[in-house]
Amino acid sequence: MRADNWSWKHVGGITMRLFKKKNEILDPYTVEKCSSCNKVVKRKFVEGDYVFKTSGKCTVCGTGSLMVDKIFGEPIK
Ligand SMILES: [Zn+2]
Repeated sequence: MRADNWSWKHVGGITMRLFKKKNEILDPYTVEKCSSCNKVVKRKFVEGDYVFKTSGKCTVCGTGSLMVDKIFGEPIK
């Protein structure tokens, strides 16, 4: 009987924590900046992204390379 009461309380605690976490979910974004024309591109964060990572040639000027400028999270609405 006592063990049952304890486990129910425990399960309730986990549910509360998951619910709280769900409210704080952020959608990660990556902002890339061209080293040549300063074009800023905002896109969805992809695993492996990090600040100062070079992610390829700029599609606007064709000469500069895109570098991750910042990574941020936006709350999901
Ligand atoms: Zn460029």
